[in-house]
Parts: sequence; C-alpha cells; structure tokens
Amino acid sequence: MEHIHTLSIQNTYDADFIKRVEEASGQQVSKCYQCGNCSASCNYTYVYDYPVNQIMRLIQLGQREIVLKSRSIWLCASCQACTTRCPCNIEVSHVMESLRIMSREEKMVSLKDIQLFYDEFLRSVKTFGRVFETGLLPVFNMKAKRPFGDMDLAPLVLKKGKLHLLPSRIKGRKEVAGIFERLEAFHKKHEA
Ligand code: SF4
Ligand code: SF4
Repeated sequence: MEHIHTLSIQNTYDADFIKRVEEASGQQVSKCYQCGNCSASCNYTYVYDYPVNQIMRLIQLGQREIVLKSRSIWLCASCQACTTRCPCNIEVSHVMESLRIMSREEKMVSLKDIQLFYDEFLRSVKTFGRVFETGLLPVFNMKAKRPFGDMDLAPLVLKKGKLHLLPSRIKGRKEVAGIFERLEAFHKKHEA
C-alpha cells in the first residue's frame, strides 16, 4: 500500500532552516517555484520518500527534521540532472549534498548503515585513489553485520566485468590521500 505523508507544518516549523541551507549550499532555495522539473529528471524518485521538488518545498516551509531525516537526501546519486533542468538555475544537487552534511552534523541520519557505507566508501578512495568496489562490499557487510548482503549480485556483475579482483593502479594515489590528510588536519584544527 502506498504511504501518504501528512505534515503538521506549524508544530515542526524551524524559521532559520532555509537560511542555514542557503548559507551552506550557496543556493537560493527560496527561488524555487515548484515547477517539478527536478523530480521529473530524477532517476531515483521511485526510491525517495519525498521527491526532490518536495524536499525543496519542505526546506521553504522550515521542516528541518523531516528533511534531515529523509532517505531521499542519502539515495541521491549527485547526477546533477535536476541542476541541469532547473529554470531558476538552482544547483539542486548541491543543496542535496549540503543537506547530507547537515544531517550528519546534526545527528539526524535515519537510514540504517548509510553513514557507515559513506565512511567505508571514502576510506576506499583514500587508500586506493578511487573506490575499489570488490573490497568495499565485504568490509561494509561485515561492519554492518550483514555478511552475505547483496552477495547474490556478485556473479552477475563479475560476469559483466563491472568488478575487478584487484584494485586499479591509478596515477595520483598519493595526491588523493593528501586531500584526505589535509581535510583531517583542517577538522582537527577547528575542533581544537
Ligand atoms: S542529483 Fe540527486 S536529486 Fe538531482 S536528479 Fe540526480 S539523483 Fe535526483
Ligand atoms: S526544477 Fe528548480 S524551480 Fe523547479 S521545482 Fe525543482 S528546484 Fe524548484
């Protein structure tokens, strides 16, 4: 059965939310007039709890908790189709990215294990210079306590040549690791 989300807007209104999102993303979310082009372009609407145009509207309505706890912001693939088609030139995918950062910072990530997946993904990029999917999945599965999760897909993707048994040897591995080290140093400095 389809879920219908009903909102009590007054009770959950956060007046500062849109300002904070606009500052974090550098985008004028207030300009969105709900044409729906972003959702019509988005390949992931079918798994979202709120289509991306509704995320924009919920920000305008100050619905901080609903937005930062939504699964949509985490399932967004940053493909930028929404950004390309927005008649108001809003970088919608950048707004989604800023919402993910805010959701983490404000401890509102509600999707199970998604934070762990992002952390392991970045750890793989730091180590190998690009993501090594074949190594990432077993590590993520073990840490998420789902040892055989998605393993049924492995033969199919291996057959199609989408996964490799060894990580690629890319140029600039050290430089990529350097980006992470500078970021970690930046965070340490600002936490001190
Ligand atoms: S960037 Fe995210 S929200 Fe925008 S179209 Fe792509 S998947 Fe959908
Ligand atoms: S395409 Fe732009 S103006 Fe249209 S609903 Fe999406 S964000 Fe709003």
